[in-house]
Amino acid sequence: MEELFADFVVIGSGPSGQTGAIQAAKLGKSVLVIEKGEHLGGASLNSGTIPSKSLREAILDMTDFYQRSFYGRTKEAKAVSINELNFRLNKILNNQREELKKQFHKNDIRFLHGLAKFEDPHRVLVLDQEGRILYRVRFEYALIASGSKPRNPKHVPFDDDKVLDSTRLLSIDRVPKTLIVLGGGIVGAEYASFFAALGTEVTVVDKEKHLLPMLDKEMSLLLQKSLGDIGLKMVGNTEFDRIEKTKEGVKLFCKDGRVLSAEMLLYSIGRVGNIDDMGVEKVGIGVDKRGYIPVNSLFQTVAPHIYAVGDVIGTPALAATSFEQGRLAARHAFGGQTHYFSSFYPIGIYTIPEISSCGYTEEQLDELGFHYETGRAYYHEIARNQIVGNDAGLFKILFHAETLEILGIHIIGRGATENIHIGQVAMTFNARIDYFIDQVFNYPTYAEGMRIAALNGYNKIHHRK
Ligand SMILES: Cc1cc2nc3c(=O)[nH]c(=O)nc-3n(C[C@H](O)[C@H](O)[C@H](O)COP(=O)(O)OP(=O)(O)OC[C@H]3O[C@@H](n4cnc5c(N)ncnc54)[C@H](O)[C@@H]3O)c2cc1C
Repeated sequence: MEELFADFVVIGSGPSGQTGAIQAAKLGKSVLVIEKGEHLGGASLNSGTIPSKSLREAILDMTDFYQRSFYGRTKEAKAVSINELNFRLNKILNNQREELKKQFHKNDIRFLHGLAKFEDPHRVLVLDQEGRILYRVRFEYALIASGSKPRNPKHVPFDDDKVLDSTRLLSIDRVPKTLIVLGGGIVGAEYASFFAALGTEVTVVDKEKHLLPMLDKEMSLLLQKSLGDIGLKMVGNTEFDRIEKTKEGVKLFCKDGRVLSAEMLLYSIGRVGNIDDMGVEKVGIGVDKRGYIPVNSLFQTVAPHIYAVGDVIGTPALAATSFEQGRLAARHAFGGQTHYFSSFYPIGIYTIPEISSCGYTEEQLDELGFHYETGRAYYHEIARNQIVGNDAGLFKILFHAETLEILGIHIIGRGATENIHIGQVAMTFNARIDYFIDQVFNYPTYAEGMRIAALNGYNKIHHRK
């Protein structure tokens, strides 16, 4: 067993671990990252964000998804094999892994492969798969960036063929003809839409009435309408009782007596923090009732020299927010100028069509009693959209009816996850909607939708007939 020392030990190489490690190295500290997975990059790169978004892009491209609207083939998908999709996926994953290795190398970040387990408040052991101790690392500060995994109940008969979670789904050997998606949250809704775009008959089952209930309701309904147009069925207000495998596939028994059958089932109901076998109890760290590590607003655990960031501390559990949390924790640990994690950030949902939003929803504004107005630009009003494929979509701006300050922006449709940042920046500077009106936008662009929506809202207040 080798003995090592690092100013900063990072457990996990996902988004939060990466930025924590790089930030500490930039502050001149010796950094050592421990990763138990086969590859660097965490769930984000190996089983979550990047694989799912790569598959999405491949599906849109290879099924001629956007071409279909020009030729009236709204429900027909060009057949694509799983091998074609995997070829593209693997190329992207390998490139990203190489980029990350280069970043670590450039910043002199050491990397050990193995399971990290705390021995005491300033020592962590690195174990191999058989539980043998490979290294003992003494550290000044530590960052727990161990992420999350699907919350899989024991009574669900998971395998790599018929009953899948979002990780197992990446190893299927064929595109199913029929698929049940249990859980209409972000991961479930995204994969449901990808398979619907591939031509699979998809049924989403959820205890809520609509997909993605946390969204502005108008967005959630538009999403459901668009997905309905490509054949997706939503079975809302329904709870599942049990799942059984059959020779042909899988049967889902619902509590209301309904039985649904499909070739495959994707179980996507929640995730849980990766805390097992890490020995956190040795350093006095416990977990909250949802199984996440509690931290203060500076990401310190109850042991103040040990920080925790990313999915292992619970919501928002996004790669986007994890990147920032890791960076802030390392800055605080080593005395860099820092600030609290902002509660204002966009949410990007890569369903087909994609959705992005920041700020309040219309339902929240109603509840809070704001006097607000709404500006809308439908995608059919946007020249760029006519040129590239005439998709359904909407820019929606919510603003204060007296001060004109922007309170929320919601976009559904092509480019939503990019265009939201225009609104996000404007809102960060407390912009009023006339900011968008007084700017010249490139034409024809999707971004112009922001201006059309602002004009629509402004005219409702100032030019009523
Ligand atoms: C299907 C899917 C799609 C997603 N899409 C998006 C998206 O589009 N945009 C977005 O922002 N977010 C998305 N997310 C969420 C995003 O992937 C996570 O929020 C992000 O990966 C969390 O980063 P992290 O650094 O906390 O941990 P992770 O990325 O989970 O990495 C943690 C790493 O720690 C390692 N580890 C755990 N325990 C130990 C130990 N004891 N010793 C050593 N190593 C250990 C793990 O092996 C893992 O590699 C998606 C998630 C899923 C599942």
